[in-house]
Amino acid sequence: MNIRFDNSFFTAMEGFYAPGEATEPSAPHLLAFNHLLARRLGIDTADTSDEELARIFSGKALPQGANPLALAYAGHQFGHFSPQLGDGRALLLGEVVAPDGLRFDMQLKGSGPTAFSRNGDGKAAIGPVLREFLVSEAMAALGVPTTRSLAAVATGDRVQRERAHPGAVLTRIASSHIRVGTFQFFAAHFGADHVIQLSDYSIRRHFPDLVAESNPHLALLDRVIELQCTLVAQWLGVGFVHGVMNTDNVAITGETIDYGPCAFVDRFAVETVFSSIDANGRYAYGRQPQIMHWNMARFAEALLPAIHATDPAGVEEAKERVDRIPHRFRIAWLAQMRRKLGLGDPFEGEGALVDDLFEALERLEVDFTSFFRALASLLRGDGDTLARLLPEPAAMAAWIARWWEHVEQQTASPVERAAAMDMVNPLYIPRNHQVERALAAAEQGDLDPWLELLDVVRHPYALRAGKADYASPPPESFGPYKTFCGT
Ligand code: AMP
Ligand code: MG
Repeated sequence: MNIRFDNSFFTAMEGFYAPGEATEPSAPHLLAFNHLLARRLGIDTADTSDEELARIFSGKALPQGANPLALAYAGHQFGHFSPQLGDGRALLLGEVVAPDGLRFDMQLKGSGPTAFSRNGDGKAAIGPVLREFLVSEAMAALGVPTTRSLAAVATGDRVQRERAHPGAVLTRIASSHIRVGTFQFFAAHFGADHVIQLSDYSIRRHFPDLVAESNPHLALLDRVIELQCTLVAQWLGVGFVHGVMNTDNVAITGETIDYGPCAFVDRFAVETVFSSIDANGRYAYGRQPQIMHWNMARFAEALLPAIHATDPAGVEEAKERVDRIPHRFRIAWLAQMRRKLGLGDPFEGEGALVDDLFEALERLEVDFTSFFRALASLLRGDGDTLARLLPEPAAMAAWIARWWEHVEQQTASPVERAAAMDMVNPLYIPRNHQVERALAAAEQGDLDPWLELLDVVRHPYALRAGKADYASPPPESFGPYKTFCGT
């Protein structure tokens, strides 16, 4: 197996990382391998045994061309600045250049301590590893920008948490692992030169169209804001709660990163929080746009030395860009909602239509994911599906009538509208109760439920025979759902 490494960060960014080494696992065993993703990366695994894949993607055998390292970064965690974080349980093997020329980081997560592990063991338990694999692949299938999962390997060792769990290593693929926190680290400890170096590198690697801008660092801020607005609009559109939007978990590429306590809303409530450590609801479903805004303000602060060094007037402009985020987010959000509702171009009163919908979904405790499919069914003359989701069949009649008026103004026929809606509104998402069931079985050594769930969430839109359970909300007996950070 040949991986085409070309490690630009290792070569160009000395001082921004610490070289590292994986801890040898005692008995690596392949749990899952993403062959489609491997092919997309130009990695030919045809002649590679599962045993060999397990050795490579657990850190037991270093692939040729890798330069393992841990990245330095800082971050605001729940609003408080931690000047020193860094990859404490992750090791960047290097960058892979895919056949189409795109460059991706290949990183092991859970492969043992690094220079940044502080008191942590640098390891990961099988549950969080399989959870990240599953949810990141679901997000990719939903068209939400995200890091990907290439491999999950059991290490054969135990990892001590509140009790001992089987250990595992995840191989994460990302456009890069440069975070808002990476900029914060170098702004806090080193100043303008380092921030400029990091910004220049980021622009060359991710946004080469910005190189020629008069103030490229300001342009970088603007681009990242745009990507974050789109990303969070997409999260809200699929009912996703990230759960730990600390600035060290915000990738400048606009990919969803760090699947710890994340989960999807079922019965809709804007204040939904799943994470057991988010006691104040800082990262609740409906607060994600405000937090994104706050995080972008921190990004702007970290970039200021570079922006100012290029042109002092850029500082005032940066402030303006940050102030405009709520407005930009609203535009991205309404565009997202028009797609979900089968409506085309912007129209007068769209904001009120959307806001009133969310108020109704919450008041009537409607299952978020099921609702949009049921709405499309109305366009096919089926009113029963929606009626079944509501406490009484006519509960949303007034809102439906308003929506219907706008649908009627579309040029496409109702049935074509319904088909378009079904292409953006998923039928299958990683339902909380299904995820828990699959992970509990996997921990006991039975991977089948997890594999089936993975297969289901990889095809979110088209109805499949025999999979009705996966489209259903949790039973009452499942109760309120709590998640834990993926350590
Ligand atoms: P996270 O909650 O995953 O965003 O991680 C926050 C910080 O804690 C990062 O710097 C991680 O590398 C570090 N960290 C989390 N878990 C561990 C662990 N088991 N060992 C070492 N460092 C860890
Ligand atoms: Mg993190």
